[in-house]
Amino acid sequence: MSTEQPAEAPKEQPVKVFAEAVYECVRCGTRTTQEELGKLPEVKCICGYRVFRKARPAVVKQIKAV
Ligand SMILES: [Zn+2]
Repeated sequence: MSTEQPAEAPKEQPVKVFAEAVYECVRCGTRTTQEELGKLPEVKCICGYRVFRKARPAVVKQIKAV
């Protein structure tokens, strides 16, 4: 009597999420990344304010593949 074993799924490598620096406008709270800011000619929020504070990325989740 042979029992069928469940097919082994290939182990997937966890995707490394690059921790980007996230900045938050102190006026309106709009979050933007350092990368986004770097694309702009000047560091400025969509609301016109230029003061940002560093914020942590809101979503850092690890999804485990079963
Ligand atoms: Zn703003």
